[in-house]
Amino acid sequence: MSSAPAQHDAPTDTTPDGSDEAHAFTELGLRAELLGALAALGYEEPTPIQREAIPPLLEGRDLLGQAATGTGKTAAFALPLLNRMPAHRQGGDPVALVLVPTRELAVQVSEAFHRYGKDLGARVLPIYGGQPIGRQLRALDSGVDVVVATPGRALDHIARGTLRLGGLATVVLDEADEMLDMGFAEDIEAILEHAPAQRQTVLFSATMPGRIDGMARQHLREPVRIEIGREQQVAGEAPRVRQSAYIVTRAHKPAALGRVLDVESPTAAIVFCRSREEVDRLTETMNGRGYRSEALHGGMSQEQRDRVMGRLRAGTADLLVATDVAARGLDVEQLTHVVNYDVPSAPESYVHRIGRVGRAGREGVAITLAEPREHRMLKTIERVTGQRITIDKIPTVADMRTRRLELTQGALRESLLEDDLDPFRVIVETLTDEFDLMEVALAAVKLAHEVTSPGSDDEEEIPQVPVRGPREGRPEAGGRGGDRRGGGRPRGGGNTAQVFIGLGRRAGVRPQDLVGAITGETGISGRDIGSIEIADRFSLVEVPQGVADEVIAGLRGSTIKGRKATVRRDRGGDR
Ligand code: AMP
Repeated sequence: MSSAPAQHDAPTDTTPDGSDEAHAFTELGLRAELLGALAALGYEEPTPIQREAIPPLLEGRDLLGQAATGTGKTAAFALPLLNRMPAHRQGGDPVALVLVPTRELAVQVSEAFHRYGKDLGARVLPIYGGQPIGRQLRALDSGVDVVVATPGRALDHIARGTLRLGGLATVVLDEADEMLDMGFAEDIEAILEHAPAQRQTVLFSATMPGRIDGMARQHLREPVRIEIGREQQVAGEAPRVRQSAYIVTRAHKPAALGRVLDVESPTAAIVFCRSREEVDRLTETMNGRGYRSEALHGGMSQEQRDRVMGRLRAGTADLLVATDVAARGLDVEQLTHVVNYDVPSAPESYVHRIGRVGRAGREGVAITLAEPREHRMLKTIERVTGQRITIDKIPTVADMRTRRLELTQGALRESLLEDDLDPFRVIVETLTDEFDLMEVALAAVKLAHEVTSPGSDDEEEIPQVPVRGPREGRPEAGGRGGDRRGGGRPRGGGNTAQVFIGLGRRAGVRPQDLVGAITGETGISGRDIGSIEIADRFSLVEVPQGVADEVIAGLRGSTIKGRKATVRRDRGGDR
């Protein structure tokens, strides 16, 4: 990498669109305890949905938000809710109830509340099916502030009188479209009937089908409406950037990043992270994996930043790991690649990030590592930018080897064309007395290969995660009466397996009982479950092949409608 002059690299405080909206958490009117927690987490600025949602929620307004995972929606409702509730309460019934579709999300949202509300002494309890009810009873009994629950289990507790909603100030319906898809509409209605009429109601949904609108009309009062990816117009011409994404689980992200960098071999790359904490962690991880990385975030002094930029320009660093704030206004000519370590929280942030490359007619590459749940956000970005983001397969170990051989071949070709090789002739001549010329060449190539492409120790295979199709346009399915659900999901064959359950309509089994049992007993989320067919005496549920055994084991260990059922892989024809 050669050094080149920079136009400017100091982060500025101006926003990409030049607006004067609140760009700091301190401007949103949050309490000091919450600001402290956010600073400790390394959040540098609110995401667009947080900027828009937090002020009206602090005022107590109802809110209808269209936002998918990855936008920061959880903090958008959790922060104002924590801000409004009395701190360090003792005993008492919950003041906030968050309804979520799955156990997985119940745990995630509770953890988020814990992280943000620690200094306020917020007591948060996740409740979901499959978890021993005794623990939940004891916790409810000793007093909680926020309950994060799946609708079925919440209703169980309400019926037992162990979850009392009389003191609720706020109810949040998170991923409402998902809850409706899972057949929770009636449960939600029943729960809301127990909540005080004078309450704040917040509804977040990734999509806004008619049923969600209906639900909002019925339960929300003059809600503020927020939509991520519709209102913001993304200005400016599209840079010449090749855009692709890889779907990868969180645990495999560092390995995937390494693999992608190896295959792409950028001159210099910038990797965007959401928080300071993540920047520091990833910089360390990537250095440990042999990539020369430097961190850049808002917590660093100007002098530290200058030093980092100097190293990048001088070519003593290849990888800049940065937050959005720190990278604002940055212009480094050598940058060829932008990597989004997470899907950005809004389309304009994506556009701003990829604008770091592809400048002045140069070609650039933008790569996004998305978790399976963030796939929808990618679709939103595509829709808003009008540009395609290709979903690529993570290079396999074999791809890597091929790529490394190509690099060595390229290096040798260059040497053959350009270098003066005469001084080495004597070695070849001496060795050919003893060995075949081909053998000599092979040994030389091997040595060159070890130098040009040192093998990384990370040779593990990174699992390919199946990509879910976009939900948009999927027929609404799975109401209480319906026996089939999940219209847009793959049916049978391919990557899915059918699970046979020896209970059906006669036993009173409904789709939501099966979804509840599966999500309650396993780590898989409701949206991974495909079609459900309920016959008189048995049911068939489609699940991803990779989790079929886990689902079967989970269901065998539990009851459905209070009964034990035969559960096995469906081989067709044996029923
Ligand atoms: P969500 O869309 O709520 O699932 O949030 C996505 C991720 O973004 C979570 O891992 C949050 O911890 C993180 N996050 C939320 N808000 C911010 C922020 N303002 N700055 C940095 N990270 C954030």
